[in-house]
Amino acid sequence: MTKATTAIECRAVELNDLAWADFPSSLSKGGIKWKLLNVAPELGSWAAIFDCPAGSSFASHHHIGPGEYFLTKGRMEIRGGVEVGGETVTAPAYGYEATSAFHGKTYFPVDSEFYMTFLGPLQFVNEEGGATVALVTWDRAEAAWLASQG
Ligand code: ZN
Repeated sequence: MTKATTAIECRAVELNDLAWADFPSSLSKGGIKWKLLNVAPELGSWAAIFDCPAGSSFASHHHIGPGEYFLTKGRMEIRGGVEVGGETVTAPAYGYEATSAFHGKTYFPVDSEFYMTFLGPLQFVNEEGGATVALVTWDRAEAAWLASQG
C-alpha cells in the first residue's frame, strides 16, 4: 500500500560531534555560540544548545510558538529578570515560555549554557509588538547553521 506521507526520521546527536558556531551577531551580543541539534519541519520546530559568555545577551524577540528550555550551566535573566517581573534562573533550571512571550533582553550575567526547543519561529523586533527585524523559522535556523559549517 502506498503511503500518503513520508515517515519522519528519528535522530540522535552526540554533542561533542558538533563544533560550536557563532550565533549571528545581528541577533545577539557578547559572543554567543550555538549548535543546531534538530529541525522538525512537520512541527515547525527547531532545537539548539547555546553557549553564552558572561555579559552576553539575545536581541529583543517574540516567541511565535511556545518553547521549553533547560539551563545546564550558569544563570539566565528572562523577560528582564526577576527585578522587573521576569525570571532569573540558576542552573540546573527548566522553563516554559508561552506563545507570544516577549523577551526584551535575555541576559547572561555569568558563563552559561542552555538547551531550547522552539515550536515555531522567533520574531526579532526592536520593541514589544514592533515590526519584524528578522524571522527565524526552522528553515532559516537550519540555513544559518549550514552556512556556518563551511
Ligand atoms: Zn526568548
